[in-house]
Amino acid sequence: MDSSTSFERKKHIRFFSRILQILPHRYSILDTSRLTITFFALSGLDVLNALDHLSEKNKQEIIEWIYSLQVIPNEAESNTCKCGFRGSTCNGVTTPQYAKAMESTNEYDSSHIAMTYTGLASLLILSDDLQRVNKKACLEGIRALQLPDGSFKSTYDGSENDMRFIYCACCVSAILNDFSAIDTAQATSFIRKSLCYDGAFGQGPGLESHGGSTFCAFASLKLMKTLNSALSKQQLKWLEYWCVSRQKMGFHGRPHKDDDTCYSFWVGATLKLLGVFELIDFKENEEFVLSTQDNIVGGFAKWPQIHPDALHSYMGVCGLSLMGLHNLQPIDPALNVTQRVRTHMEELHAKWAAAETRKLQTTSMDRSRTKSSTIDRTHTGTVVLAFVIGLGAVVVPWIYKVYFRHAT
Ligand SMILES: [Zn+2]
Repeated sequence: MDSSTSFERKKHIRFFSRILQILPHRYSILDTSRLTITFFALSGLDVLNALDHLSEKNKQEIIEWIYSLQVIPNEAESNTCKCGFRGSTCNGVTTPQYAKAMESTNEYDSSHIAMTYTGLASLLILSDDLQRVNKKACLEGIRALQLPDGSFKSTYDGSENDMRFIYCACCVSAILNDFSAIDTAQATSFIRKSLCYDGAFGQGPGLESHGGSTFCAFASLKLMKTLNSALSKQQLKWLEYWCVSRQKMGFHGRPHKDDDTCYSFWVGATLKLLGVFELIDFKENEEFVLSTQDNIVGGFAKWPQIHPDALHSYMGVCGLSLMGLHNLQPIDPALNVTQRVRTHMEELHAKWAAAETRKLQTTSMDRSRTKSSTIDRTHTGTVVLAFVIGLGAVVVPWIYKVYFRHAT
């Protein structure tokens, strides 16, 4: 590769901005997953510190489109198991006017766990306050997807179940600041059983170790805060060794495979979470990622000399961001969003907690007001009764006395 290749920031901004507007025909098979492509584009612009290239009107339109993908409960609340976010409007659409009609006519209208994650993350990237997210229904939708072995399927009507969807469930719970929809002990047990003999994680028990499933497993343990109970120090050492060994120039996902841009994030973020990211060769990794850059239209590909795509473009800039290069925004390796978005999310959590506290205080004040007004009424009643009795005690003998004096 040409070592003088420069990072084409402006072209990458154009690439991400363009795929928010129009997609090449080969993306048509991803129509049901359009929300993930939106996430790659938005978060890519955020990592490039270029969200201001979208107008406020455009941002608002994207927010409204994402909310139209929210599967909300019907009147009988019989569909909460399907709540969350759809990937596109091809199976249904939620608008205040005809949401109920769509829910009752299309039995396949259901959320997908990866869309719920990327939908919520995209709203956060656009600085939305998640006020219109039906959090309770989203969590019910997540709860309905966990299987007895602790893993998650992606949709209620059935799909494969593996590490990817545990990770999505953890991200949704982290964003909504509520892990009550996950049986974390079972999920942790599934992750532990998926630890392969060579020290990294497969998509499930007995499956081959893989860079993507290793990231999903490790980040999930971090998000659930069950890492310390799940892995021993020795297992962490083996995992470090496996991850570091995935670097040839860039990173690959399995032993003896070619390097691929996306693993600069999947394996790189795992190493970052393990706290040993400094062990890798930054220069070689950067050179490989830049060798997959499209110098004409922007974006990154899986390998050099092939077309760029949304996923590898996003993972490419994330992989470079982990190394602190090219003035890219720092990213949160567990949630796979910028630290700016993580801060925005934590500020929302603090607001929700303060609102909850105010609500509890108001409820307890209302209760004590009701109690004291009952006491007040009882007290007033007692005083009136005492007054009447007292008055009777004085007046009745007086009347009796006067009456009988006159009578005699
Ligand atoms: Zn890849």
